[in-house]
Amino acid sequence: MTDALHPETLAVHAGQEEADSATNARAVPIYQTTSYVFDSTDHAADLFALKVPGNIYTRIMNPTQSVFETRMTALEGGVGALATASGSSAVTYAVLNLTYAGDNIVATSTLYGGTYALFAHTLPQFGIEVRFVDPDKPEELAQHVDEKTKAVFAETVGNPKINVVDIRAWADAAHEQGLPLLVDNTAPTPYLCRVLDQGADVAIHSATKYIGGHGTSIGGVIVDAGRFDWAAHADRFPGLTQPDAAYHGVVWTEAVGELAYIIRARTVLLRNTGAAVTPMNSWLFLQGLETLHLRMERHSDNAQKVAEHLAAHDAVAWVNYPGLADSPDKAAADKNFTGHGYGGLVSFGIKSGREGGKKLIEALTLFSHLANIGDAKSLAIHNATTTHSQLTPEELEAAGVPEDMVRLSVGIEHVDDLIADLDQALAAAG
Ligand SMILES: *Cc1c(COP(=O)(O)O)cnc(C)c1O
Repeated sequence: MTDALHPETLAVHAGQEEADSATNARAVPIYQTTSYVFDSTDHAADLFALKVPGNIYTRIMNPTQSVFETRMTALEGGVGALATASGSSAVTYAVLNLTYAGDNIVATSTLYGGTYALFAHTLPQFGIEVRFVDPDKPEELAQHVDEKTKAVFAETVGNPKINVVDIRAWADAAHEQGLPLLVDNTAPTPYLCRVLDQGADVAIHSATKYIGGHGTSIGGVIVDAGRFDWAAHADRFPGLTQPDAAYHGVVWTEAVGELAYIIRARTVLLRNTGAAVTPMNSWLFLQGLETLHLRMERHSDNAQKVAEHLAAHDAVAWVNYPGLADSPDKAAADKNFTGHGYGGLVSFGIKSGREGGKKLIEALTLFSHLANIGDAKSLAIHNATTTHSQLTPEELEAAGVPEDMVRLSVGIEHVDDLIADLDQALAAAG
């Protein structure tokens, strides 16, 4: 599908330009199958040798999944995508696709709690070190890079701090060091921020959040811009530029050119470690994408009004929302975002502190108390005692999670009802 179409149209159509060729079904069918019959023994051999494209086994690819991947590729403006079983496996594969034991990456410190734990504790068990840096200081990147550094990682909007990272500045800094920039773009989604247009080389999503959009399914996706010149830094990226023993000696950059990174992620990491998305969840993510633009606009409108209301409330100490006129993040959002809104996440501190935060959460009725974001329903959580409870006080500080912080994922209900719920809960919190 061509670049001339608008995101709203791509969200509804990309990946399935015509009715299903086998049945004329208009909706994308759920191909609930593990395997696909080969036409002949030669066909089977050619498929395994990657000489012809086609389906072999649903751990590696599936037609419903392909439509989802093509739609995400179109929405982010990349060359290819890989859907996975979760956002966490997408982040893991995005990094492992470039790193071996002894290597390191540099990551901004304001990260989703699960990603922080992966980077601080799990990857080091495999000999991969993550160097955490201040998200506002791309100019300091060079100090943290050595010949074993393989990538720079950032989140467009730090979760739960709701700080906006200047992706363009980080992309320029990474490229100056000969490194690709990997960006977790879960919070804004490509409708609010096209990170590949801002210079990122790889976009990563937890599809569990706004893409699925209804709190029903866990999944993730990696989208490759296809722009990074791996061959120009051949010694740094042997997995992509030298014969790969995991796949009968293929050199990915020679065999598939600009698709080297995303094809290796599928044929090596997904094939051999198996965090495959299910056909059913791929289908649910397609359902979600068809209304992504409508929901993101309403999430953003509601969050803007909630943030303004909280900022003017006597019981509230501080509010983080990039759409607030005096937000330190507004300039970066206005520079990087598409102009359709600032997203659905708001965090704030309550004057009655940690205890008040607990009472507030307990008093809310429309906001559900749970550990998710991006649902059509409004959600709330106290991060220091839940999502980030494994962090030390110093780590909480670097992650931007003060003890009084409550994070809201503002849903698509009527905003007046949400504000009334917050007001009664703030009163109950004292
Ligand atoms: C939720 C989330 C993840 C992890 O995704 P799962 O689908 O829960 O595995 C990664 N990054 C961000 C920013 C998230 O919000």
